Amino acid sequence: LISIIDINLIASLILCANTFCMLKPDAVRDRKMGRIIDRIEASGLVIERMEMCELTRSLAEEHYAHLAAAPFFGRIVDFMTGGPVVKMVLSGPNAVAKLRALMGATDPLKAAPGTIRADFALETSSNVIHGSDSVENAEIEIKRFFG
Ligand code: GDP
Repeated sequence: LISIIDINLIASLILCANTFCMLKPDAVRDRKMGRIIDRIEASGLVIERMEMCELTRSLAEEHYAHLAAAPFFGRIVDFMTGGPVVKMVLSGPNAVAKLRALMGATDPLKAAPGTIRADFALETSSNVIHGSDSVENAEIEIKRFFG
């Protein structure tokens, strides 16, 4: 049986889990990095690690493997390998959900006003930011990008 102490421990571990964030090549190219990072920091999330890098095709393909059957898969990989990205590890209470809320919906047209995607992007295919969609994926993605 899981005791109440264990449940509290598990809950606090989930709430404190780090998340993975990436500023996509359009954000870097169009000089939106500073404003996006400002929003992340203003939210209270803490940048634990941050590095600019270029993704190899195989890393981009692995990262978007859940979309491998989509007709636009090749375009996503082309886009993500077309210029430098900025990869980050963020921490804070509910970091995964917090970053997703800051980002807004995948399609910038559907993203709520005031979210990063609504305010800095026009199209789903170039929507300036990635954030892990679950605690489980955050762990996988932090390992994938930072080793
Ligand atoms: P996310 O977690 O909000 O980034 O969404 P997904 O994991 O579903 O998709 C990953 C990325 O693929 C998105 O951020 C988009 O850039 C791109 N993408 C998703 N769906 C579409 C689509 O219908 N059309 C195009 N062109 N790109 C898409």
